[in-house]
Amino acid sequence: MPKKQIQSFDVIVVGAGPAGYSAAIRCAQLGLKTACIDDWCNKKGLVSLGGTYLNAGCVASIALLESAKIYDSLINKRTEHGIRMETVSLDIALMMQRKDNIVNTLSREVADSFAAHKIVTIQAEARLLNERQVEITQTDKSPPSIIEAKHIILAAGSSPIALTCAPIDNEFIIDSTMALNLNAVPKRLAIIGAGVIGLELASIWNRLGSETILLEAQENFLAMTDQQIAREAYRIYIEQGLELRLGARVISAKKSNKKVAIEYQDSDGTHALRVDKLIVASGRKPNTDNLAAAEADLLLDENGYVHVDENCRTNLPGVYAIGDLTVLGPMIAHKGIEEGLFVAEQIAGIHNPVNYDLLPSVIFTEPEIAWVGQTEQVLRATGVSIKVGTFPLNATARAHAIDKTEGMVKIITQAETDTLLGVHIIGTQASEMIAEAVLAMEFSASSEDLVKTVHAHPTLAKALHGAALALKEQ
Ligand code: NAD
Repeated sequence: MPKKQIQSFDVIVVGAGPAGYSAAIRCAQLGLKTACIDDWCNKKGLVSLGGTYLNAGCVASIALLESAKIYDSLINKRTEHGIRMETVSLDIALMMQRKDNIVNTLSREVADSFAAHKIVTIQAEARLLNERQVEITQTDKSPPSIIEAKHIILAAGSSPIALTCAPIDNEFIIDSTMALNLNAVPKRLAIIGAGVIGLELASIWNRLGSETILLEAQENFLAMTDQQIAREAYRIYIEQGLELRLGARVISAKKSNKKVAIEYQDSDGTHALRVDKLIVASGRKPNTDNLAAAEADLLLDENGYVHVDENCRTNLPGVYAIGDLTVLGPMIAHKGIEEGLFVAEQIAGIHNPVNYDLLPSVIFTEPEIAWVGQTEQVLRATGVSIKVGTFPLNATARAHAIDKTEGMVKIITQAETDTLLGVHIIGTQASEMIAEAVLAMEFSASSEDLVKTVHAHPTLAKALHGAALALKEQ
């Protein structure tokens, strides 16, 4: 019997999340014959490209938050806006449908882009066999087959960390994916972890009417964020009705009489809590458990991340890892996208590295938190001489007009040179405003450059100008 020919490509990309799809599309644009393997299925069992970010993460979360904000505004603000309405009520099924439609549209756009670029899409689970070969197991469980390429890009993403003290049962104790698919508003909701995911989910369900309690093991709230901004965030979240219990480590959670019985410890001892649902948002881990066969010898670090150099190269020649699989930068979609483009171009002989120092971070709550560069606490701890300028959003006309006056902009510069070292924003649309700061820092701008830049008036971006002016006046 003739031997079956192994399908061969220039590049195989494992994973079609933001890192994988941007890598695959860029490879194809650069003339490389490209295949992309992904096993994500939607509720109908059909392939759904876009990874966690699109299917069960950021996009789904910001879509639901938008609905929740409208609902909250109609409940609490309609009278002052002069809007008369007898009743406002929720249809969660329709709200979820809108979110699903957005996810499906964007996922289809990725599929269309793959088709337009002649990328071969394979719906299967992939396993690296060696530096040239990948084993694929189709979701219909037909026998595995092998494909090969000169270059392999691993972009398999991450998944929620399970806690043995709070096992997921998908009904009462749920993970962050399920928390974006609930069919009713829990009366009383607890969330383990006041990190990015915990806060983003809390800002949705709190607005839709859940009494929301966040249990966070750390005493220090949002430790990675500039602490002045974190204190402001804490104050605003509390004012919005979130219950934030810091230094509270959950030690057990189990279903009891159609509720969840939780035990947690803090400095005062052990406490009990009963809620209708518990969301576990205690961090994410890289998807490396079955990513490579043992004989492939892919080097992982002690936490299971793929070991890479500064060019995203693994220990295997021709094999790269990008996105949530590595510790090169935070687990954020745009880091993966930039790495995808970088690696694709590297393969094509172009060296265009990622500037990890200027990756913006965003927490999509309302108000949003966004920053780029260094925090005041890190700069002071390392002895850098700095100047700090702040400007409250409530001093801008736009914030009053849209009734979103909470928050501030904070700019940190090097004291002698005036070079921008960090920009930190809490406020509505902080994720949009931070783009100006990223661009300014990319061009090594000073606060004087921001002062001299004309900002449209009245806009929220005027607050950046205001913070730069506040620095000048010191
Ligand atoms: P996280 O690490 O940011 O927060 C998890 C929190 O859970 C930690 O603060 C931890 O102390 C706490 N925790 C763990 N076990 C606990 C216990 N038993 N009791 C109480 N608290 C406990 O993780 P996350 O929020 O799940 O996010 C995962 C990753 O995904 C992060 O890297 C995050 O940046 C990224 N992400 C980013 C975005 C964005 O950029 N907007 C959105 C979603 C996720």
